[in-house]
Amino acid sequence: MTTDAMPPSLWAASAPPPPATQPLAGEAQTDVAVVGAGFTGLAAALYLAEHGIACTVLEAAEIGFGASGRNNGQVIPNMSRVDPDDIVAAVPAELGGREKGEAFVSLIRDSASLVFDLIRRHGIQAEAVQNGWIQPAHRPSRMKVAERRVEQWGRRGAPVRMLSRDEVATLAGTDHWHGGWENKTGGRINPLGFARGLARAALDAGSVIHTRSPVQNIARGAAGWVLQTPGGTLRAQRVIIATNAYTAPGLWPKLARTVVPARSYQMATSVLSDNIRKSILPQGHALSDTRGDLYFYRFDENGRLVTGGGLMVPFGWEGRIRDRITERVKRVFPQIGEDVKFDYIWWGHIGGTVDKRPHVYELAPGVLAWTGCNGRGVALGTALGQELAKASAGVPLREIAAPVETRLNTILGHEFKALGVAWTIGKNRWNDARD
Ligand SMILES: Cc1cc2nc3c(=O)[nH]c(=O)nc-3n(C[C@H](O)[C@H](O)[C@H](O)COP(=O)(O)OP(=O)(O)OC[C@H]3O[C@@H](n4cnc5c(N)ncnc54)[C@H](O)[C@@H]3O)c2cc1C
Repeated sequence: MTTDAMPPSLWAASAPPPPATQPLAGEAQTDVAVVGAGFTGLAAALYLAEHGIACTVLEAAEIGFGASGRNNGQVIPNMSRVDPDDIVAAVPAELGGREKGEAFVSLIRDSASLVFDLIRRHGIQAEAVQNGWIQPAHRPSRMKVAERRVEQWGRRGAPVRMLSRDEVATLAGTDHWHGGWENKTGGRINPLGFARGLARAALDAGSVIHTRSPVQNIARGAAGWVLQTPGGTLRAQRVIIATNAYTAPGLWPKLARTVVPARSYQMATSVLSDNIRKSILPQGHALSDTRGDLYFYRFDENGRLVTGGGLMVPFGWEGRIRDRITERVKRVFPQIGEDVKFDYIWWGHIGGTVDKRPHVYELAPGVLAWTGCNGRGVALGTALGQELAKASAGVPLREIAAPVETRLNTILGHEFKALGVAWTIGKNRWNDARD
């Protein structure tokens, strides 16, 4: 975690400016303290303020400084690796079992629509397009993944459908893939625009946001919790830790060890000509394929193709990712021509877990957190932010739409996380090339 300013990116260049905020100075008090101003923390703050509960957000850097301001902006109502039946089966009886698992799956199912509803309701300028999300199969054998997902999500009422090879070719503008599936509620946004708009809505509803206010310590006080920043002290009855992959080791014992921050590189081309623009993703879909070393594409509102990828090691990253993704884009979308220029390249940390699942924790009475988006946190972070807010507003934990654990899923050998990331990317590439 760093207190640097937002790095240059397409979103930093195109999102509307953030609302004015100041660091915490001196003593303050609130009902619920929220640590981190990404989708999770801001959705929680908005919900609390709209329900008449005093809430103060403390953000180490800027609004949307973490993954929320840097991601690909694909609004995806599912998890990258675990399917609904796995999610349900993994919830033990003492955490609510099948019923809780199904509630969690329903939360994920409805999460994309929640994002678009918030954008509409609060008039957020976030280039929102809810025209569907597609997952094409990169090998014929991966059509089984599409069939499984359509069956499991369809059984739960999600508007999903199989796509033939020809249909994917039409929607994507290339015959690179072998068919796939679609969820109609998915889409794309300008993620930093969404974060800043959520912040503005939360402020308008009455919450307080302090930026440049890194929480250095969270301790029990005489009545509630005491959060310390370099400039002040905040007392609160309850705390939501919404720092996810940007959790520093000292914030809460062992929380940082529940998640591996893996770099994901993002890139935006120069504005493409109208002809080329109309031939790629012509209906405005967002797309992420079945590879573990994901191919993902979407347009911004000005006609830049926004894509990216991963690297096993970060050394010399800028030149290496540029070469790698330039070759990939030309191979997948040959109509783009030989001269592909990237105007923006940046990266952020995705929060990975070993079991590829998100985990929600009650860290102590009144202190809640979640970690582990595994690359799908735009919609999920927003939805979980609301659930954590409900629990902080007094809804019993057994009634919120996610299983809440008290034992942290710490990752063995977390200190070797860089090696783990390199190994995982290598393994994904190997698997991607096989049936
Ligand atoms: C490059 C990239 C691409 C991605 N693409 C997609 C995508 O297309 N679709 C999708 O669904 N998901 C995507 N994701 C995942 C998604 O962006 C995240 O899951 C989501 O933004 C997490 O939101 P959050 O609010 O939980 O955490 P974050 O947005 O990471 O916010 C955490 C905040 O906590 C702050 N913080 C940390 N420590 C402290 C402290 N001590 N005191 C105060 N504040 C602190 C940080 O500064 C940060 O602002 C992507 C992620 C990355 C990095």
